Amino acid sequence: MKNFDYLEPTTVNEACALLKQHGGDAKVYAGGAYLGIVMKQGLLEPKALVNIKKIDALKGIRFDAKEGLIIGALVTHRELETSALAREKFPVLCEAEKEVANIRVRHVATVGGNLASGEPLTDLAQIFMALDGKVKIASPAGERVLSLDDFFVDYYQTSLAEDEILTQVVLPSLPARSGIDYVRFSSSSVVDKPSVGVCARVTLDGEVCKAVRIVLGCVGATPIRARKGEELLVGKKLDTNWIEQAARSAAEECKPISDIRGSERYKRAVVRALTKRAVTAAYERALRS
Ligand SMILES: Cc1cc2nc3c(=O)[nH]c(=O)nc-3n(C[C@H](O)[C@H](O)[C@H](O)COP(=O)(O)OP(=O)(O)OC[C@H]3O[C@@H](n4cnc5c(N)ncnc54)[C@H](O)[C@@H]3O)c2cc1C
Repeated sequence: MKNFDYLEPTTVNEACALLKQHGGDAKVYAGGAYLGIVMKQGLLEPKALVNIKKIDALKGIRFDAKEGLIIGALVTHRELETSALAREKFPVLCEAEKEVANIRVRHVATVGGNLASGEPLTDLAQIFMALDGKVKIASPAGERVLSLDDFFVDYYQTSLAEDEILTQVVLPSLPARSGIDYVRFSSSSVVDKPSVGVCARVTLDGEVCKAVRIVLGCVGATPIRARKGEELLVGKKLDTNWIEQAARSAAEECKPISDIRGSERYKRAVVRALTKRAVTAAYERALRS
């Protein structure tokens, strides 16, 4: 590993200013779970690391009546998994976190790093997107708020500029009569990164599906909304036939690659099965809510 400067700002403004000063030569360092690996492999050789761990404004989980659940970028997977507030507002997050990596990684890796790395084989992005989540981003020019739908650009590429820091994830409260479910499948070991992850969210009007989001993870460069599948379900009373049709559509809409986690065909079959399970469970939760 090459030598690098190690910087420890205590405010977001200071961190952004340091990033701007170094141009593309500096990298934000949060938990280091991703950076540690790519730097040891020589894939990234930043001249400076801007460790943001001392910035209190990036820590903690809180609830705001207007905005919803606010998760600081430095919140670790383990903190989210064990947060009573997150469990009260969105139990799906705590359940999903139990399956992320292993407990050692969960203790250091952060929610901000999980999103900012733009890694395709992750879990949170598809859940946050199904929840209509937004990210707050700080730069020397001020703050911007971006929908999760617009945040991911390509494999390992997000819309974050070199001098920007992801500060918070904001999850608005679900409308009444809503249910959400996340199902993931890992083809190698349970603590491995997912091969496929599907999140479905259903909102009902009476017994009719008023709104739905189906977000497919790990089967494309970024999480993918199965929009045709969603359209099939809106305005319908959900039954196994409609759900099966939406699941089949989702399998066509995703863009998996063949790799060690499975062939393209296999992953499409997994998407179909998981979509069926996730939509059915979300629908049942919405009925009970
Ligand atoms: C063995 C292993 C198994 C894993 N399994 C899973 C899994 O099952 N599910 C899953 O979802 N993920 C999984 N991951 C991915 C893991 O969650 C991410 O690597 C981790 O969350 C990254 O967070 P970090 O704080 O360590 O980021 P870092 O390594 O510090 O940074 C990651 C990238 O994001 C940038 N960055 C970090 N924070 C910010 C910020 N606030 N603003 C702007 N840029 C920022 C950094 O510059 C860097 O480019 C796994 C990782 C490992 C190593």
